[in-house]
Amino acid sequence: MGGWKPLVCAVAASLVVDAASGCHCGDCSRSGGYVVSPGDGVERPLALYSGWRDGACWDDFACFGTCGKAGLGDVRWNDSCASEALTVFAPGRAPHRYLRDLASARTLALASPVPVPLTIWIVSEENALPGIWDDRAGRHVARALRLYQELDAGVRLEFNSATDVHRIDPARFEELMGATSYAYCDNAPRLQTPHFAAADRINVYYVPVIYSFEHGGLACGTEPEAIFVEYLGAWSANLLAHEIGHSLGLVKPRALAAEPGEIDGFPDAERNLMTSSAAEVRSLTLGQVFRIHFDADGWLGGRATDVQGGLPTCQDDAYTRAPCPPLTLTAPGGWR
Ligand SMILES: [Zn+2]
Repeated sequence: MGGWKPLVCAVAASLVVDAASGCHCGDCSRSGGYVVSPGDGVERPLALYSGWRDGACWDDFACFGTCGKAGLGDVRWNDSCASEALTVFAPGRAPHRYLRDLASARTLALASPVPVPLTIWIVSEENALPGIWDDRAGRHVARALRLYQELDAGVRLEFNSATDVHRIDPARFEELMGATSYAYCDNAPRLQTPHFAAADRINVYYVPVIYSFEHGGLACGTEPEAIFVEYLGAWSANLLAHEIGHSLGLVKPRALAAEPGEIDGFPDAERNLMTSSAAEVRSLTLGQVFRIHFDADGWLGGRATDVQGGLPTCQDDAYTRAPCPPLTLTAPGGWR
């Protein structure tokens, strides 16, 4: 009752073989009931459900399907539960969230990953630009493109090295920054002119050093979004992908700031995208994917228009639920 712990639906006892497709189906709808079918070649959908189900109110009941459908059993929305929402996820697709009209969510076609366009600005002398690109920025971008695809974040970073890399002359940069010529978030609004920031894109500024900062990268969360990355210093190639995560609305939860062994409830934390020092990034939770897409404070959420019922503002806490699923929530069934 009201607990947010997800149930793993696809337990061995309920696995059945779908004769038509030959694949295994995790079936949550033991007595028939409500089945979500994303269609369109989606084999492994995941439905995250809050609302009335089999006689009780559920928060974040997670149901994983393996034959192109996920069954939720007897569900209905009639305002009898505090939270009524259905979010459908699938690998290689953008998730979709429903707050009303459960019937229309029964069959749907999940859209392609949402584009997130990047523009790179490098503060350097002209002759230094190729080296900085080859040694730092280009590698960071390539890694970020790959990671967001591999982690099934439901977004597609858009970037063209021929048109989306620009140089800013160091003298001009100092002039823009004014008396305090520091690369720092307080000064980021000074860059928001048409020549030094691209509209409706995430602007990334590669600077020699970030003022009084020891982490190599800084996501400012200003409007429009700005990210600073240091190119002096041997920072991990995962750095840009991590900062883009911040821009997309992912916080570094308190628990993640602890040593990897001390993290409570965050699965595979040492390899999570949002762990600062992660040497190898392999993990993004379902709760994190939810926030990338549906947190009003994130880059995508801030641009979403005509969202049914509006978007929640997810709090900075890793464990509290309302109004967003916990950051620690993972998908049953193995795809995340
Ligand atoms: Zn961070």
